[in-house]
Amino acid sequence: MPRLPDWLKRPLIPIWNAAHRLAWSASETAEALLRGRFERCAVCGRTGLMRLRRRAIPQRLIALWGLTARQADALVRKETLDCCWCGSRLRGRRIAQAILGEYPVAHVGSLRAWAAHPATQSLQIAEINRIDGLHQILRRHPGFVPSDYEPSRPRGEVRHGVRNEDLTALTYADATFDLLLTSETLEHVPDLERALAEIHRVLKPGGRHIFTVPVQPGAAATFTRAQLRPDGSIVTLVPPLLHHPGGDTGYPVFTEFGADLPELIDRFGFSTTIVFGPLSEDDLAQVYISRRI
Ligand SMILES: [Zn+2]
Repeated sequence: MPRLPDWLKRPLIPIWNAAHRLAWSASETAEALLRGRFERCAVCGRTGLMRLRRRAIPQRLIALWGLTARQADALVRKETLDCCWCGSRLRGRRIAQAILGEYPVAHVGSLRAWAAHPATQSLQIAEINRIDGLHQILRRHPGFVPSDYEPSRPRGEVRHGVRNEDLTALTYADATFDLLLTSETLEHVPDLERALAEIHRVLKPGGRHIFTVPVQPGAAATFTRAQLRPDGSIVTLVPPLLHHPGGDTGYPVFTEFGADLPELIDRFGFSTTIVFGPLSEDDLAQVYISRRI
């Protein structure tokens, strides 16, 4: 913003920001139109423009991760390509496609129709963190239990229909869910092994954990970036990383996943498959399906 006196600047900032957002939105829509990026959305079932938001991934994060230009583009696609109707991003739409593939219903091609279909009404579905687009559709499903985590609030507390759940100490009974969803969550969990044990515990035998996580291309082995001490402080083992995409500013990353992710998870009693794979420089939006054995 140009140099202006503070008394004048303060009221102008929101207008300035809104104008920028509008201009960005218009240029993103124009870009999608020019490229003819019309697709059918697996979440809402409508066909429309898929908007790429280049500003969703800050340059700082790209530098920290040491991403190549192609990997950075692939990350932008994973985190954006928003459906103009329901706002679902690419990773959300792919999770929806994975759900439709794992729990198929004849003549149903969208999560919206799937969630309303009589054949799916008895399924119990846990959403561990909000997945935009899917969340709004699944809220209409009778077996849908959304949660988020705020350490300062009591575990299991329900506020505005959303439970407060710590993935390392869930308050759900054993074998409660047919399906458990997480998206870009596991890397932020301080105790990954406890989280995987908890997911296994609350899933019914044969139940699925369908999820996405960031995996760096070329990274063979998963490693711990940071550890949480009992007093709540964080010990950094490798330079710290905080995630920005989608507005989750400031969540510390504890685990960096590599190509060994499926076998790591399967040690906890799952059988894991990757869809939309394999991971490559040009596609970082894989979906993992871990079936409880
Ligand atoms: Zn949509």
